[in-house]
Amino acid sequence: MSAADGVVILLVEDNPGDQRLVREMLDEAAPDRFRLIVAACLTDTAAILDRERVDIVLLDLRLPDGNGLDSLVKMHALLPEVLIVVLSHVEDEALAVKAVRMGAQDFLVKAQINGPLLTRSLRYALERRRIEEELYRLAHHDALTGLPNRKLFYERLGGAMAMARRQRRMLALMIVDLNNFKEINDTHGHPVGDAVLVQVAERLSRSLRETDCVARLGGDEFVVFASGLADAEDAENIARKIVDLLAAPVDEGGASAGLAASIGIALYPDDGDDLETLVGNADAAMYRAKGQGRAASRYAFYSRRDDARVGERAALEDALRAAFEREEFEINYQPQVDLHSRRIIGVEALLRWRRGDELWTPDRFMHALESSGLILPVGEWVLAAACRQTVIWRGMGLQLARIAVNISPRQFRDERLVERVARALRESGLDAASLELELTEESLRDDEEMAIEKLRELNALGVRLAIDNYRARATSLRDLKRFPIHAVKLDRSIVRDMLTNPEDAEIVRAVISVAHVFKMKGVAEGVETSDQIDMLREHACDDAQGYAFGRPLSPEALADILRDDSSAVH
Ligand code: C2E
Ligand code: CA
Repeated sequence: MSAADGVVILLVEDNPGDQRLVREMLDEAAPDRFRLIVAACLTDTAAILDRERVDIVLLDLRLPDGNGLDSLVKMHALLPEVLIVVLSHVEDEALAVKAVRMGAQDFLVKAQINGPLLTRSLRYALERRRIEEELYRLAHHDALTGLPNRKLFYERLGGAMAMARRQRRMLALMIVDLNNFKEINDTHGHPVGDAVLVQVAERLSRSLRETDCVARLGGDEFVVFASGLADAEDAENIARKIVDLLAAPVDEGGASAGLAASIGIALYPDDGDDLETLVGNADAAMYRAKGQGRAASRYAFYSRRDDARVGERAALEDALRAAFEREEFEINYQPQVDLHSRRIIGVEALLRWRRGDELWTPDRFMHALESSGLILPVGEWVLAAACRQTVIWRGMGLQLARIAVNISPRQFRDERLVERVARALRESGLDAASLELELTEESLRDDEEMAIEKLRELNALGVRLAIDNYRARATSLRDLKRFPIHAVKLDRSIVRDMLTNPEDAEIVRAVISVAHVFKMKGVAEGVETSDQIDMLREHACDDAQGYAFGRPLSPEALADILRDDSSAVH
């Protein structure tokens, strides 16, 4: 099969003459090799990308909704992995170099192309991608078992830990060490030993879901992570499954070898919240498992305080329940600023727990609110209180365009969410357009049909919707396009790193520029320095929030700021 077989090409070009020309060239040079789809502008591509797999984009640089390299940036944001060959009206060496640096595969000048030239460019692009993928596979996989190697595993583990943090889920890291591999090798020889390792790799892979990962660390040591877990019991179930799968002997070359492994388990975040600690603790647990006997497979958790941990969680939940009854929750409000006028246009409501002398932030208790379901009544209280507070501020003559309230995944799934929001509006008398709900990417990904239906209902109420903590990595922006939302809040981590990491700067630029194509606002979170503000302005970011503009404050302190803001000239 040639590299070009069944290749789908998306031509983004508004000039009908040029569209025809490209079609003719492809038909002539390589009939039936390529399937051509045509879009007249970038906005149209989103709908096409929803239903079609596209291998290469042929991108005109002069479009109704994209000009020059801007089109390239937007196209990348829509579909980060796709190959792009640029079509230019002008021969411009500097522009060509820039385009290629920004990830274009080739830069073709319209007046100079013909069928053979065009198809060669497309073939080369595909071939380069194939070689890249092959090199990547070789550099990141273990030759014997085909599993990811240490490097790739750690990369994925880092990503999975970040995801677990955001989703407030648990992740289990397990080190699996074969107890009797050396004996098998010595008794039956290397070929049998190798076959055993391949078998173990297969069985471990079978015990995991697609989102999880298994790797060979070298010798007879394997490592596994499983993510999206609710508690230690989920991890234990996976460990048991591994033990069961390893129990069957490996039959190879007339020899039969029984396997026994020692498995050490460390849980994220409880047993360590960085990669090294977690791996070290899983290793310690593995040695303890081994110390308990080597004849059969065994597993051990890093610390045997599982009961204590369950107890701690239950105690926190009880304390939260009591806190809610005793009205120990408060809300702080953090300004959101229009980057052009520098005026405060909104505030985000952030939950606080007044615990004795301390003021607890949600990172210490949100997971318990979520897992216990207490977030439903507490979240409803936040909604009501925040709406009421906005009406009070306005009654004091203070200008505030909107109030933003966080909606957790659990709240979003709640069947009565729409009803609760409507009630908060009705009882406070706040107009719907002044309320913005901040939703997480996870909420929308869980069950897309349900999510879209719910977003429509919320839209019908007239409230604004924003996607919170957005990092362009997990989903491409074209996925967001499917959801009827008004704003994209760029995650704090991207804003933090954009000054030092060009890739993050590029993400900021791309997200904002694509958001604008889809008539959404770009909002930056966690803005702390004036350098960040300058760069955000440069990238046409609309609004921003962060310590640079104000910390979360009590309603009274925020009223003072609003008062200053309406009289101040910035
Ligand atoms: P989030 O939605 O990403 O909220 C922004 C968080 O960033 C807040 O933390 C805020 O204090 C912090 N922050 C703001 N500006 C800066 C800055 O310049 N630098 C840094 N380093 N941090 C900044 P907070 O208040 O601890 O809230 C944490 C998370 O808890 C929120 O993250 C949100 O997901 C959740 N949350 C807070 N209140 C509520 C609530 O009422 N309901 C629900 N469902 N979730 C809430
Ligand atoms: Ca938020």
